[in-house]
Amino acid sequence: MIYAKRKWNKLIEGYNWKGDGKVGGKEDEEVGKTETIMARPGILRGKENNLVKELKETTLSLEKLAERYGVSRQAIHAFWKRQGIKRPVRLKGHQTGECRLCQKLIQISKKSHSEFISIYTIAKETDRARATCSYHLRTLRDRGLVSQMFGRLFSKRFEKAYSMYFTKRLPINTIGQRVGIKDFQSLVQRHRELGFDVPPPFLCL
Ligand SMILES: [Zn+2]
Repeated sequence: MIYAKRKWNKLIEGYNWKGDGKVGGKEDEEVGKTETIMARPGILRGKENNLVKELKETTLSLEKLAERYGVSRQAIHAFWKRQGIKRPVRLKGHQTGECRLCQKLIQISKKSHSEFISIYTIAKETDRARATCSYHLRTLRDRGLVSQMFGRLFSKRFEKAYSMYFTKRLPINTIGQRVGIKDFQSLVQRHRELGFDVPPPFLCL
């Protein structure tokens, strides 16, 4: 029990714990139990890929993830171990809750289609240098406090094109021509592949 607790403490600190065999049968038993939880319909079904992504890309605690996915902390832990995922180390020393820039960035990220706000506009709205914004954005993304794609658009022109895409009922190529992008259609495709959530045309009006 004490051992399990110590192990858990290491996990929430973002410590990359490697099994050393001390847990033995207890661990197996835990995993077995989890398989049942995971197999129950409607709980994690279909969300495994999302969970893998969040385990890989964020430092959200297992507790927070458990809450988010509606399963036990142990279930998340077993899933993580079974998948052999290496988690990023939690950045220390920056209190996003007390940082005015981080709070402002979170606020901007809550706007609709905020993934398509360019870093230039973000810098302008926060009245800070782009590099400064990027640093704080990285921390926020690592902690899962903003979308993984927020602050990753590095072109004012793309921002303009997407703004038209979301507000005007225009064919995609017309938008491209108006803002001077040769093949906006393929650009949209490329952004989708990168992970930007581009809705189908017109559905977002
Ligand atoms: Zn900050």
